[in-house]
Amino acid sequence: MSKQSKRREALVYHAKPTPGKIKVVPTKKYASQRDLSLAYSPGVAEPCLEIDKDKENVYKYTTKGNLVAVISNGTAVLGLGNIGPEASKPVMEGKGLLFKIFADIDVFDIEVDTENVDEFIETVKNIAPTFGGINLEDIKAPEAFEIERRLKEELDIPVMHDDQHGTAIISAAALLNALELAEKNIEDVKIVVSGAGAAAISCTRLYQSCGAKRENIVMLDSKGVIRSNRDNLTSQKAEFSTNRKIDTLDQAMVDADVFVGLSMADIVTPDMLKTMAINPIVFAMANPNPEIAYQLALDTRDDIIMATGRSDHPNQVNNVLGFPFIFRGALDVRATKINEAMKMAAVKALSKLAKEPVPEQVNIAYNETRLTFGRDYIIPKPFDPRLIAEVPPAVAKAAMESGVAKEPIEDWEKYKNSLLE
Ligand code: NAP
Ligand code: MG
Repeated sequence: MSKQSKRREALVYHAKPTPGKIKVVPTKKYASQRDLSLAYSPGVAEPCLEIDKDKENVYKYTTKGNLVAVISNGTAVLGLGNIGPEASKPVMEGKGLLFKIFADIDVFDIEVDTENVDEFIETVKNIAPTFGGINLEDIKAPEAFEIERRLKEELDIPVMHDDQHGTAIISAAALLNALELAEKNIEDVKIVVSGAGAAAISCTRLYQSCGAKRENIVMLDSKGVIRSNRDNLTSQKAEFSTNRKIDTLDQAMVDADVFVGLSMADIVTPDMLKTMAINPIVFAMANPNPEIAYQLALDTRDDIIMATGRSDHPNQVNNVLGFPFIFRGALDVRATKINEAMKMAAVKALSKLAKEPVPEQVNIAYNETRLTFGRDYIIPKPFDPRLIAEVPPAVAKAAMESGVAKEPIEDWEKYKNSLLE
Protein backbone atom coordinates (compact mmCIF):
# COMPACT_ATOMS: atom_id res chain seq x y z
CA MET A 1 0.00 0.00 0.00
CA SER A 2 1.35 3.44 -0.90
CA LYS A 3 2.10 6.01 1.78
CA GLN A 4 -0.76 8.13 0.49
CA SER A 5 -3.34 5.36 0.71
CA LYS A 6 -2.14 4.35 4.21
CA ARG A 7 -2.67 7.96 5.27
CA ARG A 8 -6.18 7.99 3.80
CA GLU A 9 -7.04 4.66 5.42
CA ALA A 10 -6.01 5.99 8.84
CA LEU A 11 -8.01 9.19 8.41
CA VAL A 12 -11.15 7.39 7.25
CA TYR A 13 -10.80 4.89 10.15
CA HIS A 14 -10.90 7.81 12.58
CA ALA A 15 -13.60 9.82 10.85
CA LYS A 16 -16.20 7.18 9.85
CA PRO A 17 -18.88 6.19 10.68
CA THR A 18 -18.67 8.40 13.79
CA PRO A 19 -15.67 10.58 14.60
CA GLY A 20 -13.27 9.12 17.17
CA LYS A 21 -12.75 5.65 18.64
CA ILE A 22 -14.68 5.27 21.93
CA LYS A 23 -18.06 6.07 23.45
CA VAL A 24 -19.97 5.82 26.74
CA VAL A 25 -22.53 3.01 27.12
CA PRO A 26 -25.03 2.66 30.02
CA THR A 27 -24.72 -0.53 32.07
CA LYS A 28 -28.14 -0.41 33.80
CA LYS A 29 -31.72 -0.69 32.56
CA TYR A 30 -33.24 2.55 31.29
CA ALA A 31 -36.46 1.42 29.62
CA SER A 32 -39.11 2.64 32.05
CA GLN A 33 -39.90 5.66 34.18
CA ARG A 34 -39.07 3.47 37.19
CA ASP A 35 -35.58 2.69 35.83
CA LEU A 36 -34.94 6.38 35.28
CA SER A 37 -36.06 7.27 38.79
CA LEU A 38 -33.43 4.82 40.06
CA ALA A 39 -30.71 5.92 37.65
CA TYR A 40 -31.29 9.55 38.43
CA SER A 41 -33.41 11.52 40.90
CA PRO A 42 -34.80 10.54 43.34
CA GLY A 43 -33.17 7.04 43.58
CA VAL A 44 -29.65 8.27 42.92
CA ALA A 45 -29.67 10.15 46.22
CA GLU A 46 -29.35 6.87 48.14
CA PRO A 47 -25.86 5.92 46.90
CA CYS A 48 -24.84 9.58 47.28
CA LEU A 49 -25.72 9.41 50.97
CA GLU A 50 -23.92 6.09 51.43
CA ILE A 51 -20.78 7.55 49.86
CA ASP A 52 -21.14 10.69 51.96
CA LYS A 53 -21.10 8.44 55.07
CA ASP A 54 -18.05 6.52 53.88
CA LYS A 55 -16.02 7.60 50.85
CA GLU A 56 -14.89 4.02 50.14
CA ASN A 57 -18.48 3.26 49.15
CA VAL A 58 -17.75 5.13 45.91
CA TYR A 59 -16.18 1.86 44.74
CA LYS A 60 -19.40 0.01 45.53
CA TYR A 61 -21.88 2.30 43.80
CA THR A 62 -20.00 3.96 40.92
CA THR A 63 -17.67 3.12 38.05
CA LYS A 64 -14.63 4.55 39.86
CA GLY A 65 -12.99 1.17 40.50
CA ASN A 66 -12.84 0.24 36.83
CA LEU A 67 -12.25 3.70 35.38
CA VAL A 68 -8.80 4.95 34.40
CA ALA A 69 -7.93 8.45 33.22
CA VAL A 70 -5.50 8.58 30.31
CA ILE A 71 -4.12 12.08 30.75
CA SER A 72 -1.78 14.09 28.54
CA ASN A 73 -0.83 17.66 27.79
CA GLY A 74 0.39 16.65 24.34
CA THR A 75 4.01 17.69 24.89
CA ALA A 76 5.70 14.43 23.71
CA VAL A 77 3.21 12.60 21.52
CA LEU A 78 4.50 9.35 19.95
CA GLY A 79 7.54 10.47 17.95
CA LEU A 80 5.66 13.61 16.84
CA GLY A 81 6.88 15.91 19.60
CA ASN A 82 4.96 18.74 21.24
CA ILE A 83 1.77 18.88 19.16
CA GLY A 84 -0.54 20.08 21.92
CA PRO A 85 -3.59 18.67 23.70
CA GLU A 86 -6.11 18.51 20.83
CA ALA A 87 -3.67 16.78 18.47
CA SER A 88 -2.85 14.24 21.18
CA LYS A 89 -6.48 13.17 21.56
CA PRO A 90 -6.45 10.41 18.92
CA VAL A 91 -3.57 8.78 20.78
CA MET A 92 -5.34 9.02 24.14
CA GLU A 93 -8.56 7.60 22.67
CA GLY A 94 -6.48 4.81 21.15
CA LYS A 95 -5.04 4.02 24.54
CA GLY A 96 -8.60 3.89 25.88
CA LEU A 97 -9.48 1.37 23.19
CA LEU A 98 -6.50 -0.81 24.15
CA PHE A 99 -7.32 -0.69 27.88
CA LYS A 100 -10.84 -1.82 27.03
CA ILE A 101 -10.11 -4.66 24.62
CA PHE A 102 -7.17 -6.15 26.52
CA ALA A 103 -8.29 -5.73 30.14
CA ASP A 104 -11.93 -4.53 30.08
CA ILE A 105 -10.93 -1.28 31.79
CA ASP A 106 -12.97 1.83 30.94
CA VAL A 107 -11.12 5.03 30.12
CA PHE A 108 -11.88 8.71 29.98
CA ASP A 109 -9.19 10.41 27.95
CA ILE A 110 -8.32 13.83 29.33
CA GLU A 111 -6.31 16.40 27.36
CA VAL A 112 -5.04 19.25 29.51
CA ASP A 113 -4.11 22.62 28.08
CA THR A 114 -1.04 23.54 30.13
CA GLU A 115 2.70 22.98 30.02
CA ASN A 116 3.08 24.29 33.57
CA VAL A 117 4.02 21.49 35.98
CA ASP A 118 2.12 22.87 38.99
CA GLU A 119 -1.01 23.58 36.97
CA PHE A 120 -0.95 20.13 35.42
CA ILE A 121 -0.54 18.44 38.80
CA GLU A 122 -3.32 20.56 40.28
CA THR A 123 -5.66 19.62 37.41
CA VAL A 124 -5.03 15.91 37.81
CA LYS A 125 -5.42 16.07 41.59
CA ASN A 126 -8.71 17.92 41.27
CA ILE A 127 -10.27 15.35 38.96
CA ALA A 128 -8.76 12.27 40.64
CA PRO A 129 -11.93 11.45 42.70
CA THR A 130 -13.57 10.31 39.46
CA PHE A 131 -10.99 7.63 38.75
CA GLY A 132 -9.62 4.34 40.07
CA GLY A 133 -6.27 4.99 38.42
CA ILE A 134 -4.29 7.55 36.44
CA ASN A 135 -2.27 6.71 33.32
CA LEU A 136 -0.05 9.68 32.46
CA GLU A 137 0.78 9.71 28.78
CA ASP A 138 3.08 11.45 26.31
CA ILE A 139 4.33 14.19 28.63
CA LYS A 140 7.82 15.41 27.88
CA ALA A 141 10.91 14.91 30.01
CA PRO A 142 12.12 16.20 32.42
CA GLU A 143 8.69 17.57 33.50
CA ALA A 144 7.20 14.06 33.33
CA PHE A 145 9.48 12.86 36.14
CA GLU A 146 8.35 15.52 38.60
CA ILE A 147 4.69 15.25 37.58
CA GLU A 148 4.64 11.52 38.18
CA ARG A 149 6.65 11.66 41.42
CA ARG A 150 4.42 14.30 43.00
CA LEU A 151 1.13 12.73 41.88
CA LYS A 152 2.24 9.36 43.27
CA GLU A 153 2.99 11.02 46.59
CA GLU A 154 -0.17 13.06 46.76
CA LEU A 155 -2.83 10.65 45.44
CA ASP A 156 -4.05 7.38 46.97
CA ILE A 157 -4.86 5.68 43.64
CA PRO A 158 -2.39 4.06 41.23
CA VAL A 159 -0.52 6.54 39.03
CA MET A 160 1.78 5.42 36.22
CA HIS A 161 3.50 7.30 33.42
CA ASP A 162 3.32 4.60 30.79
CA ASP A 163 6.00 6.00 28.49
CA GLN A 164 8.49 5.51 31.29
CA HIS A 165 7.42 2.35 33.06
CA GLY A 166 5.55 0.45 30.35
CA THR A 167 8.58 0.44 28.09
CA ALA A 168 10.84 -0.33 31.03
CA ILE A 169 8.80 -3.34 32.11
CA ILE A 170 8.42 -4.90 28.68
CA SER A 171 12.03 -4.30 27.65
CA ALA A 172 13.32 -5.59 31.00
CA ALA A 173 11.37 -8.82 30.49
CA ALA A 174 12.85 -9.07 26.99
CA LEU A 175 16.33 -8.29 28.30
CA LEU A 176 16.23 -11.02 30.96
CA ASN A 177 15.23 -13.55 28.31
CA ALA A 178 17.78 -12.31 25.77
CA LEU A 179 20.52 -12.61 28.39
CA GLU A 180 19.43 -16.17 29.14
CA LEU A 181 19.74 -17.01 25.43
CA ALA A 182 23.11 -15.25 25.20
CA GLU A 183 24.24 -17.10 28.34
CA LYS A 184 25.28 -13.92 30.10
CA ASN A 185 24.62 -12.55 33.60
CA ILE A 186 22.94 -9.20 34.01
CA GLU A 187 25.44 -8.32 36.77
CA ASP A 188 28.33 -8.58 34.31
CA VAL A 189 27.07 -7.16 31.02
CA LYS A 190 28.22 -3.86 29.55
CA ILE A 191 25.19 -1.83 28.53
CA VAL A 192 25.06 1.17 26.19
CA VAL A 193 21.90 3.27 26.42
CA SER A 194 21.31 5.74 23.58
CA GLY A 195 18.86 8.39 24.74
CA ALA A 196 18.35 9.99 28.13
CA GLY A 197 14.68 10.90 27.90
CA ALA A 198 11.68 9.65 29.85
CA ALA A 199 11.87 6.13 28.42
CA ALA A 200 15.64 5.64 28.56
CA ILE A 201 16.04 6.83 32.16
CA SER A 202 13.22 4.69 33.43
CA CYS A 203 14.36 1.60 31.51
CA THR A 204 17.88 1.93 32.83
CA ARG A 205 16.64 2.30 36.40
CA LEU A 206 14.60 -0.88 36.07
CA TYR A 207 17.52 -2.80 34.53
CA GLN A 208 19.50 -1.78 37.61
CA SER A 209 16.74 -3.13 39.85
CA CYS A 210 17.07 -6.36 37.84
CA GLY A 211 20.79 -6.50 38.67
CA ALA A 212 22.62 -4.39 36.06
CA LYS A 213 25.60 -2.52 37.54
CA ARG A 214 25.78 1.24 37.20
CA GLU A 215 29.51 1.07 36.49
CA ASN A 216 28.76 -1.14 33.45
CA ILE A 217 26.35 1.37 31.92
CA VAL A 218 27.15 4.17 29.47
CA MET A 219 24.34 6.55 28.53
CA LEU A 220 24.29 8.99 25.62
CA ASP A 221 22.09 11.92 24.73
CA SER A 222 22.06 14.19 21.67
CA LYS A 223 25.42 15.63 22.74
CA GLY A 224 27.18 12.28 23.09
CA VAL A 225 28.33 10.23 26.08
CA ILE A 226 27.04 11.63 29.37
CA ARG A 227 30.31 12.10 31.23
CA SER A 228 30.44 13.13 34.88
CA ASN A 229 32.38 16.28 34.04
CA ARG A 230 29.74 17.65 31.65
CA ASP A 231 28.09 20.93 32.64
CA ASN A 232 24.40 21.46 33.37
CA LEU A 233 23.35 17.81 33.62
CA THR A 234 19.79 17.23 34.86
CA SER A 235 19.70 15.10 38.00
CA GLN A 236 18.38 12.17 35.93
CA LYS A 237 21.28 12.37 33.50
CA ALA A 238 23.81 12.83 36.31
CA GLU A 239 22.48 9.58 37.82
CA PHE A 240 23.91 7.67 34.83
CA SER A 241 26.99 9.72 34.03
CA THR A 242 30.25 7.85 33.53
CA ASN A 243 33.84 8.56 34.50
CA ARG A 244 35.12 6.69 31.46
CA LYS A 245 37.06 8.89 29.05
CA ILE A 246 34.87 8.28 26.01
CA ASP A 247 32.68 10.70 24.09
CA THR A 248 31.04 8.94 21.14
CA LEU A 249 28.71 6.06 20.38
CA ASP A 250 31.48 4.37 18.33
CA GLN A 251 33.68 4.29 21.40
CA ALA A 252 30.90 3.18 23.74
CA MET A 253 29.91 0.22 21.54
CA VAL A 254 33.31 -1.50 21.63
CA ASP A 255 32.85 -4.78 23.55
CA ALA A 256 29.37 -3.81 24.71
CA ASP A 257 27.02 -6.74 25.37
CA VAL A 258 23.78 -4.78 25.19
CA PHE A 259 22.65 -1.76 23.18
CA VAL A 260 19.40 -0.08 24.21
CA GLY A 261 18.15 2.61 21.83
CA LEU A 262 15.45 5.06 22.87
CA SER A 263 16.67 7.99 20.85
CA MET A 264 16.77 8.47 17.07
CA ALA A 265 16.58 6.48 13.84
CA ASP A 266 19.68 5.20 12.07
CA ILE A 267 22.42 6.30 14.47
CA VAL A 268 23.96 2.81 14.82
CA THR A 269 26.13 1.61 11.94
CA PRO A 270 27.11 -1.94 10.91
CA ASP A 271 30.71 -1.11 11.87
CA MET A 272 29.58 -0.34 15.39
CA LEU A 273 27.70 -3.65 15.63
CA LYS A 274 30.82 -5.49 14.51
CA THR A 275 32.73 -4.19 17.53
CA MET A 276 30.15 -5.44 20.05
CA ALA A 277 30.75 -8.59 22.13
CA ILE A 278 29.61 -12.08 21.10
CA ASN A 279 25.82 -12.64 21.04
CA PRO A 280 25.10 -8.90 21.09
CA ILE A 281 21.70 -7.85 22.36
CA VAL A 282 20.34 -4.88 20.40
CA PHE A 283 17.06 -3.30 21.40
CA ALA A 284 16.65 -0.51 18.85
CA MET A 285 13.38 1.00 20.01
CA ALA A 286 13.20 4.45 18.42
CA ASN A 287 9.81 4.75 16.72
CA PRO A 288 8.83 4.53 13.96
CA ASN A 289 12.34 3.85 12.67
CA PRO A 290 14.86 2.07 14.91
CA GLU A 291 18.45 3.11 15.66
CA ILE A 292 19.50 0.52 13.07
CA ALA A 293 17.20 -1.14 10.54
CA TYR A 294 16.24 -4.69 11.50
CA GLN A 295 17.45 -6.42 8.36
CA LEU A 296 20.70 -4.48 8.23
CA ALA A 297 21.47 -5.51 11.82
CA LEU A 298 20.71 -9.17 11.11
CA ASP A 299 22.79 -9.12 7.95
CA THR A 300 25.70 -7.66 9.93
CA ARG A 301 25.73 -10.10 12.88
CA ASP A 302 24.28 -13.59 12.74
CA ASP A 303 24.68 -13.99 16.52
CA ILE A 304 22.53 -10.91 17.27
CA ILE A 305 19.41 -10.91 19.47
CA MET A 306 17.36 -8.00 18.23
CA ALA A 307 14.18 -6.25 19.33
CA THR A 308 12.47 -3.12 18.03
CA GLY A 309 9.31 -1.12 18.68
CA ARG A 310 7.80 -2.30 15.39
CA SER A 311 5.09 -4.85 14.77
CA ASP A 312 6.51 -5.94 11.40
CA HIS A 313 9.56 -7.61 12.98
CA PRO A 314 9.95 -10.30 15.65
CA ASN A 315 10.36 -9.19 19.28
CA GLN A 316 8.24 -6.05 19.32
CA VAL A 317 8.66 -4.14 22.59
CA ASN A 318 5.06 -3.03 22.77
CA ASN A 319 3.64 -1.31 25.84
CA VAL A 320 0.29 -2.97 25.30
CA LEU A 321 1.88 -6.07 26.89
CA GLY A 322 2.02 -4.09 30.12
CA PHE A 323 -0.36 -1.25 30.97
CA PRO A 324 -3.74 -3.03 30.56
CA PHE A 325 -2.68 -5.94 32.75
CA ILE A 326 -0.76 -3.90 35.31
CA PHE A 327 -3.72 -1.58 35.90
CA ARG A 328 -6.09 -4.61 35.92
CA GLY A 329 -4.11 -6.18 38.78
CA ALA A 330 -3.76 -2.87 40.64
CA LEU A 331 -7.48 -2.01 40.37
CA ASP A 332 -8.60 -5.49 41.39
CA VAL A 333 -6.93 -5.26 44.80
CA ARG A 334 -7.66 -1.53 45.04
CA ALA A 335 -3.94 -0.78 45.24
CA THR A 336 -2.99 2.70 46.43
CA LYS A 337 0.07 2.69 44.15
CA ILE A 338 1.88 0.94 41.36
CA ASN A 339 5.15 0.31 43.17
CA GLU A 340 8.50 -1.29 42.28
CA ALA A 341 7.42 -4.72 43.53
CA MET A 342 4.37 -4.65 41.25
CA LYS A 343 6.44 -3.60 38.25
CA MET A 344 8.99 -6.33 38.94
CA ALA A 345 6.17 -8.87 39.23
CA ALA A 346 4.99 -7.85 35.75
CA VAL A 347 8.55 -8.21 34.38
CA LYS A 348 8.86 -11.72 35.82
CA ALA A 349 5.40 -12.79 34.64
CA LEU A 350 6.08 -11.60 31.08
CA SER A 351 9.52 -13.17 30.87
CA LYS A 352 8.20 -16.48 32.26
CA LEU A 353 5.29 -16.55 29.83
CA ALA A 354 7.61 -16.22 26.83
CA LYS A 355 9.34 -19.45 27.85
CA GLU A 356 6.16 -21.51 27.98
CA PRO A 357 4.67 -23.40 25.00
CA VAL A 358 2.70 -21.04 22.78
CA PRO A 359 -1.01 -21.83 22.25
CA GLU A 360 -2.04 -22.60 18.68
CA GLN A 361 -4.39 -19.60 18.52
CA VAL A 362 -1.41 -17.27 19.01
CA ASN A 363 0.46 -18.89 16.11
CA ILE A 364 -2.65 -18.46 13.99
CA ALA A 365 -3.18 -14.82 15.02
CA TYR A 366 0.37 -14.00 13.94
CA ASN A 367 0.50 -16.22 10.87
CA GLU A 368 3.30 -18.27 12.43
CA THR A 369 3.72 -22.01 12.41
CA ARG A 370 5.50 -22.58 15.70
CA LEU A 371 6.57 -19.70 17.93
CA THR A 372 9.02 -21.03 20.50
CA PHE A 373 11.31 -19.31 22.99
CA GLY A 374 14.44 -18.27 21.10
CA ARG A 375 16.15 -15.36 19.33
CA ASP A 376 13.00 -14.55 17.35
CA TYR A 377 10.63 -14.88 20.27
CA ILE A 378 11.84 -13.40 23.57
CA ILE A 379 8.60 -11.70 24.67
CA PRO A 380 4.95 -12.73 24.42
CA LYS A 381 2.74 -11.41 21.63
CA PRO A 382 -0.03 -8.90 22.50
CA PHE A 383 -2.85 -11.20 21.30
CA ASP A 384 -1.80 -13.98 23.66
CA PRO A 385 -4.88 -14.84 25.76
CA ARG A 386 -2.65 -16.03 28.62
CA LEU A 387 -1.52 -12.47 29.37
CA ILE A 388 -4.79 -11.54 31.07
CA ALA A 389 -4.68 -14.73 33.16
CA GLU A 390 -1.02 -14.42 34.22
CA VAL A 391 0.03 -10.78 34.53
CA PRO A 392 -2.80 -9.20 36.63
CA PRO A 393 -2.66 -11.92 39.33
CA ALA A 394 1.13 -11.50 39.58
CA VAL A 395 0.74 -7.72 39.94
CA ALA A 396 -2.13 -8.09 42.43
CA LYS A 397 -0.14 -10.55 44.54
CA ALA A 398 2.85 -8.19 44.61
CA ALA A 399 0.56 -5.33 45.69
CA MET A 400 -0.74 -7.45 48.55
CA GLU A 401 2.71 -8.61 49.63
CA SER A 402 4.10 -5.07 49.53
CA GLY A 403 1.22 -3.76 51.65
CA VAL A 404 -0.52 -1.42 49.17
CA ALA A 405 -3.67 -3.51 48.50
CA LYS A 406 -6.83 -2.22 50.21
CA GLU A 407 -9.00 -5.14 48.98
CA PRO A 408 -6.85 -8.28 49.04
CA ILE A 409 -7.89 -11.21 46.86
CA GLU A 410 -8.74 -14.36 48.79
CA ASP A 411 -9.84 -16.85 46.16
CA TRP A 412 -7.21 -16.87 43.40
CA GLU A 413 -8.91 -19.57 41.34
CA LYS A 414 -12.09 -17.53 41.25
CA TYR A 415 -10.15 -14.37 40.43
CA LYS A 416 -8.30 -16.00 37.51
CA ASN A 417 -11.56 -17.36 36.14
CA SER A 418 -13.15 -13.92 36.34
CA LEU A 419 -10.28 -12.52 34.27
CA LEU A 420 -10.92 -15.03 31.51
CA GLU A 421 -14.67 -14.28 31.25
P1 NAP B 1 12.40 11.98 24.78
O1 NAP B 1 12.03 12.13 26.21
O2 NAP B 1 12.17 13.08 23.83
O3 NAP B 1 13.96 11.59 24.75
C1 NAP B 1 14.73 11.45 23.59
C2 NAP B 1 16.17 11.32 24.00
O4 NAP B 1 16.94 10.98 22.87
C3 NAP B 1 16.75 12.61 24.58
O5 NAP B 1 17.46 12.32 25.75
C4 NAP B 1 17.67 13.09 23.46
O6 NAP B 1 18.81 13.80 23.91
C5 NAP B 1 18.11 11.77 22.89
N1 NAP B 1 18.69 11.87 21.57
C6 NAP B 1 18.31 12.62 20.52
N2 NAP B 1 19.14 12.45 19.49
C7 NAP B 1 20.08 11.58 19.90
C8 NAP B 1 21.23 11.00 19.29
N3 NAP B 1 21.58 11.29 18.04
N4 NAP B 1 21.98 10.13 20.03
C9 NAP B 1 21.63 9.82 21.29
N5 NAP B 1 20.56 10.34 21.92
C10 NAP B 1 19.81 11.20 21.22
O7 NAP B 1 11.67 10.73 24.14
P2 NAP B 1 11.27 9.32 24.79
O8 NAP B 1 9.82 9.35 25.14
O9 NAP B 1 12.25 8.94 25.82
O10 NAP B 1 11.37 8.39 23.50
C11 NAP B 1 12.60 8.25 22.79
C12 NAP B 1 12.43 7.34 21.59
O11 NAP B 1 12.07 6.03 22.02
C13 NAP B 1 11.32 7.75 20.60
O12 NAP B 1 11.71 7.42 19.30
C14 NAP B 1 10.16 6.90 21.00
O13 NAP B 1 9.26 6.66 19.94
C15 NAP B 1 10.86 5.62 21.40
N6 NAP B 1 10.09 4.81 22.34
C16 NAP B 1 9.81 3.53 21.98
C17 NAP B 1 9.09 2.71 22.82
C18 NAP B 1 8.80 1.30 22.42
O14 NAP B 1 9.34 0.79 21.48
N7 NAP B 1 7.97 0.60 23.10
C19 NAP B 1 8.64 3.22 24.02
C20 NAP B 1 8.96 4.53 24.40
C21 NAP B 1 9.70 5.31 23.54
P3 NAP B 1 18.72 15.23 24.70
O15 NAP B 1 18.35 14.86 26.11
O16 NAP B 1 20.08 15.78 24.57
O17 NAP B 1 17.65 16.01 24.00
MG1 MG C 1 3.02 7.07 24.95
